[in-house]
Amino acid sequence: MDQIEMYRQQIVAACQELLERGYLMATGGNVSLRVPEQSGFAITPSNYDYAKMRTDDVCILDLSLHLLSGQRTPSIESSLHATVYQTRPDVNAVIHTHQVYASALALIDAPIPALFDEQARFLGRTVEIIPYAPSGTGFLKKNIARRIKNHHNAYILQNHGVLCFGQDMERAIHNVEILEKCSLAYLLALCTERKVTKIPLAVREIAFSKLRQDQKKVARSGEEDR
Ligand SMILES: [Zn+2]
Repeated sequence: MDQIEMYRQQIVAACQELLERGYLMATGGNVSLRVPEQSGFAITPSNYDYAKMRTDDVCILDLSLHLLSGQRTPSIESSLHATVYQTRPDVNAVIHTHQVYASALALIDAPIPALFDEQARFLGRTVEIIPYAPSGTGFLKKNIARRIKNHHNAYILQNHGVLCFGQDMERAIHNVEILEKCSLAYLLALCTERKVTKIPLAVREIAFSKLRQDQKKVARSGEEDR
């Protein structure tokens, strides 16, 4: 099996896992993986049921969005994924979902402060809300390009869903799970109307510096491969 087929398989397997765990529903969301051999990425097709998806349905695009292989129309958010790969050399997998609890925070414009050690270690200092812009537009792409330079690995898209990154697909899936757990805990805490405590600032900064070290290592090894 060639390398490209392996990327396609990873996308299909990730979609099935995310579907089974309730993070992806029907055709909402999209998943991609960097393909360094072709200076591009593999991405799920547009408006296609994840339950039916096969490796042949996965599209391979270059960073200028030219279709290199695949029979289907690539996701409407392909340009957003390309922006992430261009802006963040440490990111090799991108997952966009409409997961419910994080989406609820997207509706009340509630960024998540550093609540848990694991959150700061893998997602970043906070989970910010990226201002609303319609799907597939240059406005959304611009908003995202600006925000993701802070090196975080999870963002909430206002009135839309979430965006999670990882150095590989496994990490990106874990980050989706950590984000949903934090979102649910934060929502429940907000409902009590009592003061929500955060982790100490020093602990947050140590955890985030470990994340940055990991990211720099991945970015360096990616550059050596290219
Ligand atoms: Zn979406």
